[in-house]
Amino acid sequence: MNDCLFCGIANGSVEHLLWQNEHAAAFKDIHPKAPIHILIVPKRHVENLDALDDPNLAGQLLLAVREVAHTVGLKGRYRVALNNGRPAGQIIDHLHFHLLGQSAGHDFATTGAESDSL
Ligand code: 5GP
Ligand code: ZN
Repeated sequence: MNDCLFCGIANGSVEHLLWQNEHAAAFKDIHPKAPIHILIVPKRHVENLDALDDPNLAGQLLLAVREVAHTVGLKGRYRVALNNGRPAGQIIDHLHFHLLGQSAGHDFATTGAESDSL
């Protein structure tokens, strides 16, 4: 095991996982920028999107994001973000999708929950 924080979380040794399959894991962002803010990461270490060279894993990750969104009740009402590289705001060097949303009854796009910097 390396010393990557998200490798540790994704493989179950650090924080509670909301969802997982053989390729990916999902857990709550520790500093949520929206009422629902979940991170979806590959279980194996990939630094960022530039370093992702496995088309199967790429597809699996996108499907994982969608499945997590549906699992937490966000079908049809969520935003996905990915910061690639320091200049774009990436602070953890393990690929992760930000899944952002708000539960039914609230219009996510007009609450100010959207943020340009995640
Ligand atoms: P980035 O800026 O790299 O795209 O996003 C990293 C995200 O990881 C941030 O939103 C930050 O709040 C979150 N984060 C940083 N450390 C931890 C941690 O130890 N646990 C969890 N669950 N989230 C973290
Ligand atoms: Zn890692």
